[in-house]
Amino acid sequence: MYYSTDIVIIGAGAVGTAIARELSKYHVRVMVVDKRDDVGGDASKSNSSIICSGFDCPPDTLESQLCLSERAMIEQVVKELDVPFRVCGAIMPAVTQQQMDILPHIYEDAYANHVYDVEYVSPEQILKMEPEINPDVLGGLYIPRDAVIDPFLLVVAQAENAAENGVQFLLNTRVVGISVEHGQVQAVETTGGTIRTKYVINAAGLFCDEIAKMVDECDGFVVKPRKGQFFILDKNTPCKTSHIVYPIPTPETRGKLLLQTIHGNMLLGPTAEDLEDKEDHSVTAEELEGVERDCKKLVPNIRVQDTITQYCGLRPNRIPAGFHIGFGKKTQGYFGISGIRSTGISTSLAIAKYVVKQFQDAGVKLERSFTFQPRRTGIEKFSEASDPRRAELIAKNPLYGRVICRCETVTEAEIVEAIHRPVGARTVDAVKRRVRAGTGRCQGGFCGPKVIEILARELRIPASEIEKNLAGSYMLTGQIRGEGEQGNA
Ligand SMILES: Cc1cc2nc3c(=O)[nH]c(=O)nc-3n(C[C@H](O)[C@H](O)[C@H](O)COP(=O)(O)OP(=O)(O)OC[C@H]3O[C@@H](n4cnc5c(N)ncnc54)[C@H](O)[C@@H]3O)c2cc1C
Repeated sequence: MYYSTDIVIIGAGAVGTAIARELSKYHVRVMVVDKRDDVGGDASKSNSSIICSGFDCPPDTLESQLCLSERAMIEQVVKELDVPFRVCGAIMPAVTQQQMDILPHIYEDAYANHVYDVEYVSPEQILKMEPEINPDVLGGLYIPRDAVIDPFLLVVAQAENAAENGVQFLLNTRVVGISVEHGQVQAVETTGGTIRTKYVINAAGLFCDEIAKMVDECDGFVVKPRKGQFFILDKNTPCKTSHIVYPIPTPETRGKLLLQTIHGNMLLGPTAEDLEDKEDHSVTAEELEGVERDCKKLVPNIRVQDTITQYCGLRPNRIPAGFHIGFGKKTQGYFGISGIRSTGISTSLAIAKYVVKQFQDAGVKLERSFTFQPRRTGIEKFSEASDPRRAELIAKNPLYGRVICRCETVTEAEIVEAIHRPVGARTVDAVKRRVRAGTGRCQGGFCGPKVIEILARELRIPASEIEKNLAGSYMLTGQIRGEGEQGNA
């Protein structure tokens, strides 16, 4: 295949899709390419889901500037894009005198980062706000504007809205090279063909060093994975917190936190393990035991026996560290983004604005389009509808009357809509992340086969071709009855 566009964005994670949406406000042709089967990225779909006020960023850095800037924008954007978001606030309790001694440094950093609403709180105040905190707490900090979001829906919503405003998405397409002539980008070479373009934005996260090398713009930096493992607990677990509970950080790590996700599950983690292998997505008993141990120091009654799943994410750890966002030094038309390690969800909207401004400052003509449609409406959730509204939905579309995922009360109508939206779901995991079918206690044990059937029917492909997520991850391995034979099950 052969394509032609003005700007290619490599990577459909939080950063790439935010830039795509921002650029869709201008008269410019944009194409987003990702090697994965779906938008959502790598790190962007497996993180702690916090929109941080920026209180604990390294002061006087681009990261802290972008965090602060995004916090000012996020509430408007989640309304425009209909993304679940909750300002729950955070508590950072100190349970030892050594930890108490660190609090003033964190408080000072918050001020240096212009996050002035961080407050000291007494043990009594902490226990009143959050009764499950360790009763030995000596004091702590309250960070009122830290919030939780559905990070996957944020990315999906950005992608859908960008697509509706004219951005093209090429998924299952790996970038394998960038053609440069006379020091100017000419084309991006992919497994799906050549894309002729003048500009390329590298938003490839963990793999951005490999893309930078294609145009000799790596300047000696490397990106290594820093793994973070998590527990997700059942919604019905008896011990829950309503605030984010942060540990006191150490020079090595921010530590393991507890929070209630936007969907009501407790999340515990993450670890911070420096690795070499960028494809290592394993979870290990040893590290998870460490998560349990550390979280219990903060919230002693937390019950990991109520775990419904564990997962991990790989932070794109740039060495040397720090946000680096800008045009290449040697290759005209190349724009690099690296170092977006631990706050990429809390900064992606601001990164997108920053990128567009850099393009404008470099003289790239970006003419504002006044037909840009900022609004996107999410898929209506049957589980959250009132009884009269449920009746209305079923009368309009009988597929609302068929509950496919019993744990999360997800109906067939929602799944079908997830498949047919712009940049729609093509795999079982893509359905799960959009409508939560398979995220409940049984983790898809009951609804998995039904979801495969619906995907196959709607996409008009055999069920044997339905994948879980990555290319080749087929859900069905073969037939156990003969052709045409009907079973009773
Ligand atoms: C454990 C953990 C906890 C975190 N907690 C938080 C948090 O609470 N709050 C917060 O703000 N941030 C958090 N982060 C950080 C945040 O998740 C990342 O900074 C952010 O997701 C990075 O987004 P991205 O778009 O740059 O990268 P990614 O999401 O990794 O997306 C990069 C995309 O590039 C694609 N790609 C790579 N190479 C190629 C290629 N050759 N061709 C085509 N496509 C390619 C990949 O397939 C991927 O989809 C956490 C991260 C982790 C791992």
